[in-house]
Amino acid sequence: MLKVKKAKNAGFCFGVRRAIEIAEKTLKEKDKVYTLGPIIHNPQEVKRLEKRGIKTLESVSRIKDGCVILRTHGIPLELHEKLEKNGNINVIDSTCPFVKRAQDVVRKLSSDKATKDSTIVVVGEKAHPEVVALVSYGNKKCIVIETSEEAKAFKDNKNLNIVSQTTQTSENFNNIVNILSKKYKISVYNTICKATLDRQQSAEKLARDVDLMIVIGGKNSGNTTRLAQICSCKTKTYHIETFKDLKKNWFERIFTIGLTAGASTPDWVIKDVELKIKEFGEKLQN
Ligand code: SF4
Repeated sequence: MLKVKKAKNAGFCFGVRRAIEIAEKTLKEKDKVYTLGPIIHNPQEVKRLEKRGIKTLESVSRIKDGCVILRTHGIPLELHEKLEKNGNINVIDSTCPFVKRAQDVVRKLSSDKATKDSTIVVVGEKAHPEVVALVSYGNKKCIVIETSEEAKAFKDNKNLNIVSQTTQTSENFNNIVNILSKKYKISVYNTICKATLDRQQSAEKLARDVDLMIVIGGKNSGNTTRLAQICSCKTKTYHIETFKDLKKNWFERIFTIGLTAGASTPDWVIKDVELKIKEFGEKLQN
């Protein structure tokens, strides 16, 4: 009999739930509703919203009028300002307050008298939309460091102010801070959000106790990918997007399965996975 245990903190976080509520409300009230890039990093939930009428665009050039919802992990400052100036476009900001807090920290560091001559180090993934947006608030004073190796190779002649992408692991952030602290005068601003920390800690705890971990969420979701990385250090782990990715043979000779999901994974996707695992369990028993 397969026993399924779910992580204490899994699935939608406050910021994602808030963005979906904003999108649903806007859809009810307005006609032309767009997002720039996916509103959250979950292809299944984005598709559900698209079926209800939201259009996901990669660039503003095709938007003449209507509402543009800004995604949870923010957009670059210049683009935001450009949209606000366009009188035909109604900008609805669903950027998560924790992401905004990180943007405010970067903006303040880059302009305050005491810190404006220092370098701002953003610990995060260079190409991730949140990091691209964060850097845009830094008045060309940011550099992005992704790994310990990059931190070791980094060279600068200024003091460093270190901030984080909200969904980084504490481990990667602390390792990079430790490396840089040996060579530079540093100030640390830990902007990892609590929802991320809670999900990472619950996933790690559960992964220690089970034979197999299933991590559910978008392959484009940074926080889901990091949950899978954390779990795979403790036990056999698969990162899936939906129940269709599950394979029956994964569950042969397995007794306890742990389930977790990224902050952008909706409940209905998680429920479908639970049902499919139950179905496999019953088939393997017979
Ligand atoms: S993971 Fe954290 S920062 Fe990102 S949307 Fe959720 S609460 Fe906000």
